[in-house]
Amino acid sequence: MRQIRQSRKLRNVRYDVRGPILVEAQRLESEGHRILKLNIGNTAPFGFEAPEAIVADIVHHLPDSQGYADSRGIYEARTAVMNYYQSRGLRDVRVDDVFIGNGVSELISMVLQAFVDDGNEILVPAPDYPLWTGAVTLAGGTAVHYRCDEADDWNPDLADIEAKITENTHALVIINPNNPTGAVYSVETVKGLVDIARRHDLVVMADEIYEKILFEDAVHHHAATYAGSDVLCLTFSGLSKAYRVCGYRAGWVMISGPKELAEDFIEGLTLIANMRMCANVPAQHAIQTALGGYQSVEELIGPGGRYYEQAMLAHRMLNEIPGVSSVKPRGALYCFPRLDPEVYPIEDDEAFVIELLRAKKLLVTHGTGFNWPEPDHFRLVTLPAVDVLEEAISRIADFLAVRR
Ligand code: PLP
Repeated sequence: MRQIRQSRKLRNVRYDVRGPILVEAQRLESEGHRILKLNIGNTAPFGFEAPEAIVADIVHHLPDSQGYADSRGIYEARTAVMNYYQSRGLRDVRVDDVFIGNGVSELISMVLQAFVDDGNEILVPAPDYPLWTGAVTLAGGTAVHYRCDEADDWNPDLADIEAKITENTHALVIINPNNPTGAVYSVETVKGLVDIARRHDLVVMADEIYEKILFEDAVHHHAATYAGSDVLCLTFSGLSKAYRVCGYRAGWVMISGPKELAEDFIEGLTLIANMRMCANVPAQHAIQTALGGYQSVEELIGPGGRYYEQAMLAHRMLNEIPGVSSVKPRGALYCFPRLDPEVYPIEDDEAFVIELLRAKKLLVTHGTGFNWPEPDHFRLVTLPAVDVLEEAISRIADFLAVRR
């Protein structure tokens, strides 16, 4: 038989978080090594459990979740999402503005398939959560990366965004709170981003999956609030991170703004939703319970809470390593430290991460895997318990001490 090759569509698609670095980690595991994997923001392996009410809800609904559901999502889940945004001041949200998916991941891909035409340019942050760049590329578009400024707490560089807008630019992606940097944008920044979209007739795609994971005085502002009735805004969020159910696959996208101008797009999105039948039904039931006031994430994000204490410990310890600097995370589950190129001249950061993995049996993700242009960063997941995190960062420090 002839060689069977992957489609040409995939030629420029990357998703390094689970790419060659993970293959190498699995190879080492097959040789009997224990690898500490800090490459993915998956809560369960680090001892986090979902709120009991969510698990109970899923168990309760298993018997009556055997059939396909409405492709857009079960009514109760869509109503719960509608109520949630209405209670956050977005009064115009209707049940038909909500689509439920198998996690935000599936919805990002579905939306981009429905939205992007060949050659369309979509503004995506650098660094980004790499699904965005991958899904834009797979949909036939071009991800144009705008710079987030490390010296300014990783805030987006609004001038850089403006400079990169062309007649082919169709949408602006905002990830807030941000993966991988931990930035949470001020109200002025969110307004500034939305104003750019307004002036250039761009759709806003706001990935807000970490909206509830906020530290200290950080406040989350929905882009949709400022997009108002004249900028089309797609807001993505879900249960994976705040409710610690990454494996259940439950997320949503909410469409706001001038929906009457987006009827054709919404018809396309509905077609794509129909083609994949529906999202996992048991997990959809849990959305209502989660959004119904059960705010158990509160106990993780304040002083003494695991999300908070671990993030602060990682930030502190990383900054104690000579030649390493890490901006303090204000939310989410990550640190994105910089390795001073004068101290650690790295040409290929993926090779660097594999070196660290082989030497210290610890897996982090290289910065270029998040479309950061220089090989001088890596991302550390701050989910392990304090003692494990201490051990992990000590291993990084030891590795770097020898490598200088
Ligand atoms: N968006 C961002 C910014 C993420 O970090 C992640 C997962 O890490 C996702 C979306 C995907 O989440 P889900 O589990 O809902 O597919």
